[in-house]
Amino acid sequence: MKNASLRRLISKRDIRRRVRELAEEITAHYQGRPVVVLGLMNGALFFLVDLLRLLPESVIVECRTVASYAGPSSTGKIHGLDMLHGNFAGKTVLIVDDILDTGLTLSEVRARLLDMGAKRVDVCVLCRKEGTRKVRVRAKWVGFDIKNEFVVGYGLDFDGVYRTRQEIFVLEPSSSTP
Ligand code: 5GP
Ligand code: MG
Repeated sequence: MKNASLRRLISKRDIRRRVRELAEEITAHYQGRPVVVLGLMNGALFFLVDLLRLLPESVIVECRTVASYAGPSSTGKIHGLDMLHGNFAGKTVLIVDDILDTGLTLSEVRARLLDMGAKRVDVCVLCRKEGTRKVRVRAKWVGFDIKNEFVVGYGLDFDGVYRTRQEIFVLEPSSSTP
């Protein structure tokens, strides 16, 4: 996307506050029971780390790389699910992802974990987009409900860049000048 501009959507302070609230809710919910926190890379990287710092030491941490995007729209094809092998049988798994969009990624990952014998699979997402679902996915914890706009920053990229921005921005095409 040439001539794109960034419009700030969520501030650093709001992210920090919301992550703290989510960590408190998650901690209270599991009450020290064993949980495998499965972070989906690369988008959830910053969110995962900030959340993990506030979770109890008993959580087990796993990361897998899955991707469905090429450029600014979902390809609908999920890559990286074959990397999901691991010991999830009998475990409670909390998937941590960046964005719930069509829902294809999370429903596939969730189904795969249940196939592998996971006892329970919950979902926590940083952002949930409005009106974009192709399949139903229940996210137990949601950082922010957002409109159907392409966002970057705080781990989220556009073709690999913008991940290191500390805040969340909407990437919008600049109004073109003739
Ligand atoms: P879904 O399978 O739900 O359509 O896609 C979810 C994945 O697409 C997210 O985990 C994220 O990696 C990517 N994605 C969806 N919307 C956006 C967006 O607005 N910005 C960025 N950077 N990635 C997105
Ligand atoms: Mg993702």
